[in-house]
Amino acid sequence: MTQTIAPQPGIMDISLYQGGASEVAGVENVVKLSSNENPLGPSDGAIKAFQQAAFKLHRYPSSDHAGLRHAIAEVHGLDADKIVCAAGSGDILNYLCQAYAGPGTEVIHTEHGFALYRIYALAAGATPVEVKERERVTDVDAILASCTDKTRLVFIANPNNPTGTMIGSAEIARLADGLPAQCLLVLDGAYAEYVEDYDAGAGLVDSRENVVMTRTFSKLYGLGGLRIGWGYAPKPVIDVLNRIRGPFNLSGAAIDAAQVAVRDRKYADHCRAENARWRHWMAEALAEIGVPSDVSCANFILARFASEDEAQNCDAYLQSQGLIVRQVGGYNLPNCLRITVGDEASCRRVVHAVRQFKGG
Ligand SMILES: *Cc1c(COP(=O)(O)O)cnc(C)c1O
Repeated sequence: MTQTIAPQPGIMDISLYQGGASEVAGVENVVKLSSNENPLGPSDGAIKAFQQAAFKLHRYPSSDHAGLRHAIAEVHGLDADKIVCAAGSGDILNYLCQAYAGPGTEVIHTEHGFALYRIYALAAGATPVEVKERERVTDVDAILASCTDKTRLVFIANPNNPTGTMIGSAEIARLADGLPAQCLLVLDGAYAEYVEDYDAGAGLVDSRENVVMTRTFSKLYGLGGLRIGWGYAPKPVIDVLNRIRGPFNLSGAAIDAAQVAVRDRKYADHCRAENARWRHWMAEALAEIGVPSDVSCANFILARFASEDEAQNCDAYLQSQGLIVRQVGGYNLPNCLRITVGDEASCRRVVHAVRQFKGG
C-alpha cells in the first residue's frame, strides 16, 4: 500500500478566510471601511505602552497574563481566574474547537455567522452545521431544533457580524438552558463594547456551566494589528483552554498595551459615543436615498440593495471613489454591503458616493 502525506480529513474543505481589502489599484487616498476597525485608532496610553515595550524585547512575556487578566477583571467586575487571553479572540474560538469538537461531532453556527466558526470546526475535523436565521436575526428555536447528541459547540455572535443585529438576554438564557448536556454555548462578544450597559453574557457564564464568552481588543480598542482577545468561562473550561494554548501566545507588547487600553475608560466611552453618533447618521442618510439597513448594534451597518447586481455595482462605484467596503455574498447576503462606521469625513464621503450612484 502506498502511503502519502495528507492533512487530516476536513482541512481541505476549508475556504481561505477573506480579509477586508485595503487598496484599490490606481486610486489614492482610500478609506478602508471593510474590516470594522476603529477609525480613531488606539488610545494614546496604549501606544505609549507599546513603544515602551520595545526596550524589553529580549524578555519572554508573562505566560499567565496575570496583570492583564486582573485589569480586565477589575474593569468588567469579573473573576480573573475565569479569564483566558489569546492572540485575538479568534484564537479562543480555535482552542474551543480543538478542545471540544472533533471527528464525529457537530458545531452549530448561524446562516449569517462569522466565517471563522466554520473554518475552526473543519480544522478540528468536526462537521459545521448551518442554522437559518429569522430575517437576519439569530433564531433560538431554530438552533435548539438543530441540536443532536453530536452537537458540542454553538457559536453565536451577539451583536452579530455582518448583520449588526442582536438578541436579548432572556433569549440567550433560554438558548443556554435548552442545549443538550454535552454542548457549550459560545457567545462571541467582539462588538459587545459598542452596546451600552451590556455584559455580553458574563452573568450567564457565572451562573451556568455551559456558557463561554469571548471578547477582543481588535474593535473598540483599536488594537486589531496587535492581536489580543480573551475568553470568560467556567473554571473547568479555562483549565482545558490553558492546557492547549501556547504558554507565550501573547507578546509582551500586546499584554502591556491591552492592560493600559482596558483601563482607559474615558477613551473607550468617547469611541463608543462617536460610533453611535455616526452610525445613526449614516444609516438614516442611506435610508433616505433608498438603501435601508437593520438597526445596528455594532460599528458597521449592513446596507441592503434591491439586488445582488445593484450591490456589486455600488461596491464598484464606491471603490472608484476610494471607498472600500465589504461584499458579504460569502455570508449568504449577496444583495448587501457591510460598511464600517468611519470618522465623520468618511461617513459623509460614503453617503455622498452612494447618493451619486443612485443618481440623486
Ligand atoms: C472581528 C471579530 C472577531 C475578533 O477577532 P480577533 O481575533 O479578536 O481580532 C471575533 N468575532 C467576530 C464576529 C468578529 O467580527
